[in-house]
Amino acid sequence: MFETSTIELSASAYRHNLRFINFRLKAGVRLCSVVKGNAYGHGLTQFVKMAMQAGVDYFAVHSSEEAYLLKQGITKMPDLFIMGAMEESAVKWAVENAVEFAVFDRERLDMALSYARESKKKAKIHLEIETGMRRTGFSIKDIQELSKCLHKHASNITFQGLFTHYAGAESQANHFRISKQIDNFNQALKAFKTEKLVPIYNHSACSAALLNYPETQGNMVRVGILQYGYWPNRETHIRYCEESKSTPDLLKRIIRWTTKVMAVKEVSKGNFIGYGTSYFAHKNMKLAIVPIGYAHGYSRNLSNVGSVIINGIVCNVIGTVNMNSLTVDITLAGKVKPGDEVVLIGSQNGNSISVSSFSEQSHQLNYEMLTRLPMNIPRIVKK
Ligand SMILES: *Cc1c(COP(=O)(O)O)cnc(C)c1O
Repeated sequence: MFETSTIELSASAYRHNLRFINFRLKAGVRLCSVVKGNAYGHGLTQFVKMAMQAGVDYFAVHSSEEAYLLKQGITKMPDLFIMGAMEESAVKWAVENAVEFAVFDRERLDMALSYARESKKKAKIHLEIETGMRRTGFSIKDIQELSKCLHKHASNITFQGLFTHYAGAESQANHFRISKQIDNFNQALKAFKTEKLVPIYNHSACSAALLNYPETQGNMVRVGILQYGYWPNRETHIRYCEESKSTPDLLKRIIRWTTKVMAVKEVSKGNFIGYGTSYFAHKNMKLAIVPIGYAHGYSRNLSNVGSVIINGIVCNVIGTVNMNSLTVDITLAGKVKPGDEVVLIGSQNGNSISVSSFSEQSHQLNYEMLTRLPMNIPRIVKK
């Protein structure tokens, strides 16, 4: 109600990205929109509502906690898949509510079975195969035994999916490892087929695999970062543009994060500004104090490095980013007063601040910076 900053989501930018993704999907491949990490910081329920309006009907979250939050937040439940962490009580909840979930070990398989029997509903499971990432998943050697179990309990279990995850499909340096994973996954699919079991969906591709290994589409893809308008990393971006001979701006960023100027002041030359000695005024300056700091996900690494837009002018962050505020140089920004809009991410009057411009355009940064935007900043969907 008295929010310090606001995040706007652009529905038209989202539809644009969706067209980019759908254009790359082979016929009959279903898109599962990955919305873990509070929809990569975009706001889980607001983002899902917007995506559903754009026609997306299948979502993947990391945990049962996120699945539960989503179910609380929306009236019409889409198809939903939990890829990772679940409390035992959540397995029961998922079975009862037809929420799909990953099964990567015997313990969860047994839980799924017993709750399916108890509630007389079928557990919709996606079996995860460990193909080389060394995170979670059954080994290919387990497939015979798993098959027996699926046949035996066919009335309690729906074999909704077979899946795996690649350990870095965005970098050519991992090519050898990813190729092996692709082989292993195909082998697993074949092994189930030999046992007369075909999952409804077989899926392995994330954004990077969709672009770099289009043969991994199976009949479903799990796309996260691309739909938000970012490339998995710089290498994938460059490679894609070169191979498709296209311009670099194929995706549109959805997020616009703004706040308002809290105070303005003038400082004469020869003074340090803010904590300690991190910034020294060599000239007379005009400053704006902006009520955003590292507590709001604006990294302290952006001290003396970051920039914001005020009055359509890009202004530098000077001195250290504080817990709840930062200071910017508005000497060249014309007349600025408290309450004026400050753009932290996004554009204003033709200038823009991108998430990747926050520092080196590094892979970590896109995913990491976005997901660190606090949950309690209001998210508002715009046309
Ligand atoms: C995060 C995640 C994805 C989506 O990855 P992007 O690079 O954002 O497309 C897909 N599958 C799994 C298992 C994930 O954890």
